[in-house]
Amino acid sequence: MMKMDNTTSPQAIFWFRQDLRLKDNPGLNAATQAGMVLPIYIDETPEAGQEAMGGASRVWVHHSLSSLNKSLGGNLSLYRGRAETIIKKLCETYTIKQVFWNRCYEPWRKTRDTHLKKQLTERSITATSFNGSLLWEPWTIRKPDDTPYRVFTPFYQKGCLNAPPPRIPVTALKTITLFKDTRHSIELDALGFLPGHRWQEKIITQWTISEAGAHKQLAYFMKNSLAHYKKGRDLPAKPWVSRLSPYLHFGEISVHQVWYAALAQGLMAEPFCRELGWREFSYHLLYSNPNLRTKNLQPKFDDFPWRDDPDDLAAWQQGLTGIPMVDAGMHELWATGYMHNRVRMIVGSFLVKNLRLDWRHGERWFWDCLVDADLANNSASWQWIAGCGADAAPYFRVFNPVTQAQKFDPDGVYIHTHLPELANLAPPYLFAPWDAPPQILQAAGVMLGTTYPHPIIDLKKSREEALAAFAEIKTAAP
Ligand code: FAD
Repeated sequence: MMKMDNTTSPQAIFWFRQDLRLKDNPGLNAATQAGMVLPIYIDETPEAGQEAMGGASRVWVHHSLSSLNKSLGGNLSLYRGRAETIIKKLCETYTIKQVFWNRCYEPWRKTRDTHLKKQLTERSITATSFNGSLLWEPWTIRKPDDTPYRVFTPFYQKGCLNAPPPRIPVTALKTITLFKDTRHSIELDALGFLPGHRWQEKIITQWTISEAGAHKQLAYFMKNSLAHYKKGRDLPAKPWVSRLSPYLHFGEISVHQVWYAALAQGLMAEPFCRELGWREFSYHLLYSNPNLRTKNLQPKFDDFPWRDDPDDLAAWQQGLTGIPMVDAGMHELWATGYMHNRVRMIVGSFLVKNLRLDWRHGERWFWDCLVDADLANNSASWQWIAGCGADAAPYFRVFNPVTQAQKFDPDGVYIHTHLPELANLAPPYLFAPWDAPPQILQAAGVMLGTTYPHPIIDLKKSREEALAAFAEIKTAAP
């Protein structure tokens, strides 16, 4: 039951961050036990600097906050600016002595939170943080020699699965009394999360951005897709992955709820749980490598001869490379804010290996376009693709976008969905239109260079050049 009381002062602040939900929210539960709660959200853009949310994330968070505010009976107070200043001011205004939040793991947030906790403690205000978003805290999983893991399989098998099991989701709140700060809170629209242009309108039709939407998505996945997941997770045209990543990032659902819902399905959940394990691994890497977003985990890559070619980068970003599987992926990203994992690997490999453009360009573009943009997952995945990460794909593994399409999109359904200009071109030429005889292209209404681009690069030659460049650094000191 939700109550509101604006006649007396609140006892506690609960600070929503990447936990935009009411269920299984340990920090919110604890705040509620302290008494009347002032629930707040702060747009931290000015503080986040380079790591401020990208465009698609801002669209997501706008809609998620709107939904959360409704669930809170309109009592969510919103602010923009430095969290320390805002929280200290609220504590002073309302003589609040307790502040609660769930932990975030971005290095800038960690530093800031530690500082804030210290400052509040000095003012006799208790600041308490909880684990709301990871199955295992990154510092609790260590190798026998007490160093962090660098390879996924032992991290997951020996580390996570031998550690105490993740906490059981906390039971829902029975009663919560809320306070709204009408003096300082600003309107959601004033946070300016939505861009001026119409690109976001298409994205939001793809998702139900709310806690209820996350649970609906989980229920759909458990009922219809989990049984297919082991093999089906590689087929981008099939609805056999969960599409829970943005909900997990922003916390409309907790990973604990997802983990235990999967385990309840028995053994077939194993491959899916393992992927949740990759998420844990990314956070483990970020925790021990705060510069994961910018710095090669293998220093020998620091001298890699990346090309500098703004035109090729723009063609990749816009899905105009002339390689259908790559372009389809980049169009999916732009239209939906999401890209299937198999295709993320294909477009990523094409950028860093065939085009030989620095992986950080890819990381930045994904950061801006993905609704699930996540500092740990995105940085670790790009380092993995580039071969410079801790547990990286071997440098000589270059995904061939033509054979990948033949294998994982054999009927061309995924490509046709995202590249309607090739709708009448059937496999096998759909995968490599440059090899199609002129009469086939003509019958399909495809004019290379006019209705669809010529390939910007020769796949075979660029692969060989990449291998030669990678071979040069292979022998360099690690
Ligand atoms: P499912 O297959 O249903 O998996 C369930 C959950 O497990 C996901 O929601 C995600 O939280 C986690 N997960 C699955 N695969 C991975 C993985 N390889 N690494 C880490 N966690 C994983 N994931 C993000 O959440 N944010 C990102 O910014 C991101 N950037 C990526 C960039 C590149 C170049 C690549 C190759 C992968 C990236 N991933 C990222 C990982 C992965 O592609 C997505 O998590 C997945 O596609 C999300 O779809 P899903 O929820 O349907 O996944």
